[in-house]
Amino acid sequence: MKYSNKDFIPKPPDILILIIPIAIAVICIMMFSSKTIGKNAKIIVDGEIIDKISLQKDAVYNFNLKEDNIVEVKNGKIRIKSANCKDKTCIDTGYISKSGDVICCVPSALVIVIEQDENNEFDAITR
Ligand SMILES: [Zn+2]
Repeated sequence: MKYSNKDFIPKPPDILILIIPIAIAVICIMMFSSKTIGKNAKIIVDGEIIDKISLQKDAVYNFNLKEDNIVEVKNGKIRIKSANCKDKTCIDTGYISKSGDVICCVPSALVIVIEQDENNEFDAITR
């Protein structure tokens, strides 16, 4: 029996629903590479950098996204302190501080990435 491939091509909205979580997962995997202490964290929502946070001063940030995420910076480290997403994986990740470290909150489409030190950036990309 033969099946037409047409049946398996999702419509555009379906593709978006599939791609966004996959893209977030890919970003997360890619970022687990070289490790040096980072100075800033990038806040990425739906693949766009919406903010940059310095890790050099303690502070608490409240991001009202698809879910509420409270982000805390303490002693050069950053974590998601609380979130009303269902899985709480982002909270369980705890503090991150090294460049390339990532916290993901998939329900919020939120990714926190510690920035590469400028000197190491080229190195990390080519690796
Ligand atoms: Zn979460």
